[in-house]
Amino acid sequence: MSRLEPLPYANLDWTSGDPVMSAALAPWPGARSSRDIPAHSRKRATRGAPNHSKVQLNNGVEMPVLGFGVFQTPPEDTRAVVGVALATGYRHVDTAAAYGNEPGVRDAVRSSTVGGPAVFLESKIWISYYGYEETLHSFDKSAGKLGVEQIDLLILHQALPSAFDKTVKAYRALARLLADGKARAIGVSNFMVEHLTELLDETTVVPAVNQIEVHPYFQQLQVQAFNAEHGILTQAWSPIGGITFYRDGSNGSTLRDPVIGQIAAAHDKTPAQAMLRWHLQQGRSVIPKSTKAARIAENFDVFDFELSGDELAAIDNLNTGVRGGPEPSEITLETYGRDIPEA
Ligand code: NAP
Repeated sequence: MSRLEPLPYANLDWTSGDPVMSAALAPWPGARSSRDIPAHSRKRATRGAPNHSKVQLNNGVEMPVLGFGVFQTPPEDTRAVVGVALATGYRHVDTAAAYGNEPGVRDAVRSSTVGGPAVFLESKIWISYYGYEETLHSFDKSAGKLGVEQIDLLILHQALPSAFDKTVKAYRALARLLADGKARAIGVSNFMVEHLTELLDETTVVPAVNQIEVHPYFQQLQVQAFNAEHGILTQAWSPIGGITFYRDGSNGSTLRDPVIGQIAAAHDKTPAQAMLRWHLQQGRSVIPKSTKAARIAENFDVFDFELSGDELAAIDNLNTGVRGGPEPSEITLETYGRDIPEA
């Protein structure tokens, strides 16, 4: 398998203890910076949020807005790496059946003092198991490897345009798991507008999340607008632009971008922190990945500063429209199919 891997949900609710961003309200489709957010909400939307910030998904479930990604984290290292993340304060881990490291996530949670219920677990069904029964079975495998009976957020990893009927059946299986209490929320990943449109036509549960590639160089504004319009939270993968340097790199690395560098320096922060802050202030969930303790801590230390409207706009202006990951319309079982072992 190849390496697959705002629209502001900025309506912060400061009244319920933990600040909660309401995805369901997603009120400003098309807004690209805080200047586009109504003045009465702007102040709240851009104010520094405590590191336990949660976003409220469209079914009321609360999710820590900043999660920890483990794509490409070797299975044998995952327990230790996720252990560091939990000790740092992360309470949300994004894994996938296709990453092969769900057992490491389980072991980290089990050996942590944090306690399983405090950790929000997100995983993904791989395309080789689309279809109703196949997806139900894939849930059993993931839940078994994660050591849980209920997965907090379960999403389809990719649309399968060449077999969209199977994609729809897989999503109906997610809806069944949601109804049965085996998932607290369900969603999709790498769904483009045409995939979401067809899915919404064919099914009844609006995805809580669409996890897509979003970083300063590739912002997918149309998909973000569609998500916002339908109460679907945009969750940014490669939020610091990992895909701009670990895959090909020929289009430049976001980490070395001079504009981002200047903005970061002005706040005495790093480029990664500036990018994460840009996402959070525009209402996206983020799931940065690192295997290094110092970077794991750095990527979590993003709640004590605030980018100005001009700084947000300057990062907005870096969009090149060049995708780093695979083209979602070209995903087929032939090119990306793979077996996922039993639990
Ligand atoms: P990312 O989080 O934007 O970047 C990760 C890369 O940046 C790694 O090479 C990491 O290396 C490095 N890094 C991390 N923190 C850093 C820092 N503070 N300074 C400098 N370098 C830093 O990219 P990603 O892993 O593609 O995306 C994050 C998560 O999104 C994944 O782990 C996965 O959970 C999810 N994802 C989903 C899909 C999908 O198709 N749904 C696709 C890709 C990713 P080290 O590990 O060596 O620190």
